[in-house]
Amino acid sequence: MQDRVRIHEVALRDGLQNESTVVPTAAKVEFAHRLADAGYTDIEATSFVRPKWIPQLADAADVCARLPRIEGLTWWGLVPNQRGLDRAIGCGVQAVATFLSASETHNRKNLNRTSRESLVALREVIANARADGLRVRAYISTVFGCPYEGAVDPARTVMLAGELIAAGAHEVSLGDTTGMGDPKLVRRVLRALTDGGIPLEAVALHMHDTRGTALANILAGLEAGVRTFDTSVAGLGGCPYAPGASGNAATEDLVNMLHAMGYDTGLDLEAIAESGHFIEDVLGRELPGRYHLYHRGSSSRDRGAETA
Ligand code: MG
Repeated sequence: MQDRVRIHEVALRDGLQNESTVVPTAAKVEFAHRLADAGYTDIEATSFVRPKWIPQLADAADVCARLPRIEGLTWWGLVPNQRGLDRAIGCGVQAVATFLSASETHNRKNLNRTSRESLVALREVIANARADGLRVRAYISTVFGCPYEGAVDPARTVMLAGELIAAGAHEVSLGDTTGMGDPKLVRRVLRALTDGGIPLEAVALHMHDTRGTALANILAGLEAGVRTFDTSVAGLGGCPYAPGASGNAATEDLVNMLHAMGYDTGLDLEAIAESGHFIEDVLGRELPGRYHLYHRGSSSRDRGAETA
């Protein structure tokens, strides 16, 4: 049996949220259909934060109403609080993601409350989501470094992950929000988690490629035993702290690497690459994914002409 890796696709939510262009609802729905056809099991569709905060995703309800319902595919919605959860449930999402930060300063600047206050609020949101039969994940951001504090103590991540899982979260997704992580640090954080009694089956990695380290960090996680990774088609979604810089790891880059290594993702790489060209045309800006760029170049000329 092949070793199976699960990709949690974030282009529709995390990707579009960090693009300055507001994509029309119809184009998002077309993008969602293309992604669904590529064989994903998990796609984050939109966010139920206040539309005023993220105008790019203000059409959450419209998008959700037009998502293709496919056996084996779970559509996720991001929810910041109980009000967001209520909206998500009203829109029929099957799974929700909540979020807080491992760094106290980042949590306060991003969410206007302490990590402890976030944790208390999220416990209730998670319990209510579970009571409604939803799957739940919790993002912990700035696990591998904070733009304000610098290094973040892995013990904070272990504490938060333990509390979130105890509250009912099925998985925690560890975010390298500003791409400060390195493979050694990834191994250190994962070892701290397993030493703290947290099984890696409940851990996902959400790596950013801001400094070009995303695939190396993911490989470190893969070799340590993580089997769920969050990525974004063509690297969609910039870095919110550095305009123009890359954010999310590109799905095609990881899927190509995993397939070459013999891992099974259940995904159609060609279909994902085509969806990357589609959304790039919609946005009208060149997207940074390496496989994406390679694919665009190689499909525009005779593939047999590649000699070097
Ligand atoms: Mg991201």
